[in-house]
This record gives sequence, C-alpha cells and structure tokens, in this order.
Amino acid sequence: MTVETNPINMKGSDSRLLIIRNGQVITPTGILKNATVVVRSGKVDSVTQGNIELPGAIEINAGGNFIAPGLIDIQINGFLGVDFSDQNLNIQDLRKATKALWQNGVTTFLPTIITNDFENLKRSFSLLTRILDDEELRMSVPGFHLEGPYISPVQGYRGAHLEKYVRLPNWNEFVELQEAAKNRIKLITVAPEVDGAIPFIKKCVESGVVVALGHHNGSSDIIHQAVDAGASLSTHLGNGCANLINRHENPLWPQLADNRLSISIIADGFHLNQDQLQCFYKMKGVNKTILVSDALDLAGLPPGEYIRMERVVVLSEVVKYPAENVLAGAASPLSTCVSNMMKFTNCGLEKAIQMSTTNPASLIGISDIGEINPGKRANLILFTLEDERILIQKTILDGMEVYSRNP
Ligand SMILES: [Zn+2]
Repeated sequence: MTVETNPINMKGSDSRLLIIRNGQVITPTGILKNATVVVRSGKVDSVTQGNIELPGAIEINAGGNFIAPGLIDIQINGFLGVDFSDQNLNIQDLRKATKALWQNGVTTFLPTIITNDFENLKRSFSLLTRILDDEELRMSVPGFHLEGPYISPVQGYRGAHLEKYVRLPNWNEFVELQEAAKNRIKLITVAPEVDGAIPFIKKCVESGVVVALGHHNGSSDIIHQAVDAGASLSTHLGNGCANLINRHENPLWPQLADNRLSISIIADGFHLNQDQLQCFYKMKGVNKTILVSDALDLAGLPPGEYIRMERVVVLSEVVKYPAENVLAGAASPLSTCVSNMMKFTNCGLEKAIQMSTTNPASLIGISDIGEINPGKRANLILFTLEDERILIQKTILDGMEVYSRNP
C-alpha cells in the first residue's frame, strides 16, 4: 500500500481560507445536505446550507460526498507494519503509520502501549514523546493509552498480554512512566480486582488520567467500587475475558449495568458477534459507546504467521494467538468498525460516526475535535459509502488536506 499525501502549506496556515462545497455534513442530530463548510486558520468557521462566495479561498467540491469529523481511535497498537511499542521506533515509522491512518480517515489516535517490562514501557513513552516534537505528528497524536501492565494475570482475562510482565499497580512506577511520556498518558486500562487497584484508580483520576477497566475478572462489588473511584470506561467490553464464565457472577453484567461506565468495543466482526454488539449497544446507548480498532501493527500487512512480543500470532482478517486460543488483536481500521456497527446494529451513519468521533473526544477531554461546529479544529473526512463500506476520499487535518484518493 502506498500512501500519497498532499499537504497544503503545512506551515503558516494561519490566514488560509478553505471552502468545501456541496457536501452532506454529518452532525449528531442529522445530515445537513448541500452544505458548505468554511475553514479559517485551521478551524471550522461556519457550516451553512447552500452556496456562499468566498473570494481567495481554496475550494474543494465535495461532489455530494459525506463530510464527517475525522475519526478518533483511542486504542491502536500499530499500523501498516509499524508497532508503536517497537523499542527502536523512529519518526519515519510513526509518520508512515500516521499517514496510513489519515488514508483510512483517522485524524487523531492514542498509540496504545501494552503490558511489557517496565524499562521497555518507559523507553516506549520516551521514544514516542521525543518523536512528538514533530509538529505535524503532534496534530494527530494528543497522547497515549497504557493498556496494562496492571491487569489480571489469569489466562483468558489476560488475553494476549504476557504473564511475566503483568504486575500489581504501583503509583510511583506510573508516575515515572508519566514523566517519560511528559504527561501524555491520557488513558490507562487496569484490572480493578488486583491488590491496590482501587486507590491507584483514584490517584490516576485525580491526576487527570482517564481510567478504563479491562483484562479483568472483577466482581460486581469491586467493579462498582472502581467506578466510585472514578473509572469511566470498560476497555473492549466482551474481550479480555475468559472463554468460559459463570452465568451469574461474571464481569460483563456489572459493567453493562453501571450507567456511569462507557464502553469501548471492537466492531471488526470477529471480536464480538452481532448479538453481542446489538446487546451492548442497546444497554449503553449511543452516548456511552465508543468504537476502537485495537489494530495491531499487522493491520494492512499480508496474511500469515508473524512473531510479535515473543509469540507466534496468525494474521487473517483478525490476529489470533493459537497457543492460548485467544485473539491477539485486530487488523481492521476504525473505518471498518464504523461500517460494521451500522450493518450489525442498524444504528445509522450519524450515530456510528458519533461513536467514533464525538464520544472518544469527550472521553479523553479534548473539546476542540470530534464535531463539525464553528470553533472546532477542521479535522474532516470526505467519504462515500459503497456496499455499506466507508471509502475515504479526502482527509483534512487542521484545515490542510493530508490525503486525497484522487490527488
Ligand atoms: Zn486488550
């Protein structure tokens, strides 16, 4: 896959005017047809129906295509052969993955670093942070997601995380990681039932980090206590869970029942079946559901066997870890999950877009993205729907075209 980008005047864009005509603008309340979006200084200036004149502006004719906010992926481990946990990650790697994500409609993402040796975790955050001195990449990467290492060591709940690196929550250790990340760890996934987890969750939330519950076998009491302590998300609900569970006492019911918890789900068509997706969506509703890709670096590569994190994994349309009979991650970009969500739940395009833009932005507390409204950053995607699949035509980041299918 080659990635062509066509950034317009990446520097000095302050006075630049952009007008996008003849689009169908997706808002949480409906679709605005024959709409014109004006972008000034990288921000949405106005969204109106019909045509307006704006001499001197760069013009894009959307040709009736949909215009939505850029997709926001808060759980993604890598893309197109680039593993964000790679101990030798460099700027070229992150740029390659970022451009491939732009091509897939993702304008914002949280590189997700999973359970690993402490020194390796620290090095990952230091490397990523150093790379983010780059202004262009920083526009798409506002922070990181740390998934683990403070999760359940039990097979099944642990998923494909390596047991030898799983350990108990340790605040001082986390502070060290957060220092290496220059406070960019926005989201952490922990197991609430392990020793010290509840006070750890409290401290994380007090420090401004969003806490998610995941890879855990918390009891009902413990889960509600974790939410009392400030946990606000269930990470990829229905995954990171043993294959066989008790029908009454299992971690799914309390997480579904507690209205204070949002959920993230992997709607790649493999991690959850259609009934699960429908039930989870009915229980949580559009405002409390977030779509994530959980894509591995293998996403976008040819099918086959690969070695990842000392494990033999098998890539098809999804990534499996046969040694423990678990899924090791996904291989579909977020845009595929948006399409699947529409197909499996009949939620409609506006809601599927809300679950992959507005909701994740609001969860991680970034108020200037995730919607097309005056004053918001002009992170936009133009796309068509073909056989219910989203086909990205153009991606615009901070008012600059960074991908065009037909340059
Ligand atoms: Zn996971």
